[in-house]
Amino acid sequence: MLPDVSLDTGATEQWLYELWRGAGSNAVEARITAEHLVGANRAGHDSHGVSVVPAYVRSLVAGNLVLNQRITIVSDAVSLLVVDGNRGMGQSIAAQTMSLAIARAQAHGVAVVGLRNSHHIGRVGHWAEQATAAGMASIHFTNVVSRPLVAPHGGVQARLGTNPLTVGLPRRAGAPILLDFATSAIAVGKVRVAYYKKAPAPPNVLLDAHGAPTTDPAVMYEQPLGALLAAAGHKGYALGFVCDLLGAALFGGATAHPDNLISGGMYNNMIAIVFDPARFGALDHYEREADAFIDYVRSARQAQPGQPILMPGEAEEHYRAARARALPLDAGTVALLDEAVATINQIRGTNLPSASSLRTQTR
Ligand code: NAD
Repeated sequence: MLPDVSLDTGATEQWLYELWRGAGSNAVEARITAEHLVGANRAGHDSHGVSVVPAYVRSLVAGNLVLNQRITIVSDAVSLLVVDGNRGMGQSIAAQTMSLAIARAQAHGVAVVGLRNSHHIGRVGHWAEQATAAGMASIHFTNVVSRPLVAPHGGVQARLGTNPLTVGLPRRAGAPILLDFATSAIAVGKVRVAYYKKAPAPPNVLLDAHGAPTTDPAVMYEQPLGALLAAAGHKGYALGFVCDLLGAALFGGATAHPDNLISGGMYNNMIAIVFDPARFGALDHYEREADAFIDYVRSARQAQPGQPILMPGEAEEHYRAARARALPLDAGTVALLDEAVATINQIRGTNLPSASSLRTQTR
């Protein structure tokens, strides 16, 4: 297993900003992308942090990712909208989409926005946090249009993406409640991190090409390819399935059907249901009930003494506190980041520093 290294958090964000500026993003897009990617690492989701940069650079080179895109409005029925992301940088496209959804929800109480045809939007919880920071609640069903990764319950061949489900609930004081997970047994990025680290994947999440259980992460990256299992058996499969229809097809987005795949492309469609909870007129009640319910849930006897019961979103808060200054990253990912920045230097004639230069120490 390859060792982790430690990268300075602030320097990594600045490095990402310069990398995307060098690649051709305008200053706003580069800043949003850098903040989002470092934010995912800071939240503990290394699968959706800086480790996605090599894939994004490959997408850029292949013409699958188009920089500096604005969303275009496909249809506008005031609180029901469809927008197209024009294959733009998903971090910028999702931020624009959420700004629009939040503004409409503030004005009309609720906004249902279908985003289609965006490049990968990263950690979807980030977009729910954009809503909760504005005092809005949000629900997101997202599908992934790339090579299929997840076997349907009862099947042994990949047919679905890792289609995440996300809910953000604001709190007057303290961190929002945030549910945000892939409907696969684990996010494929976590298998990728294990693959780069040369570490085994957890048990009961992978099938090999013959449909047999395995912990070898290579089954997701080397021929013959295997598949991820759905989270929680038929339940995760069914949730993932509706993400393709509710989170894409209903408003003109592509499902992960082979006819819709673009070689090497990694796109997301997302339905965001954003609403102003104050409009129910029960915010004081909600806050009192939430406090009482959280206390009651936490009062359950702990399965492992010393390991507290967490609320959804709390794990990310703990990671943020621990990773404010330094991010652990596996050496395999750092090497791939070095290759990605070398590609940008080559195609854009820039002289950007390597990711290795951000290392503070070996852990
Ligand atoms: P995960 O399995 O780490 O689960 C995270 C969720 O579980 C969070 O809501 C977290 O607060 C909660 N949680 C964690 N530990 C908890 C505990 N002990 N008690 C209570 N709640 C707890 O997440 P994942 O499935 O690995 O997904 C990681 C990220 O990948 C998500 O941010 C998701 O949006 C993203 N993702 C994106 C795409 C895409 O195509 N853009 C696809 C799949 C996943």
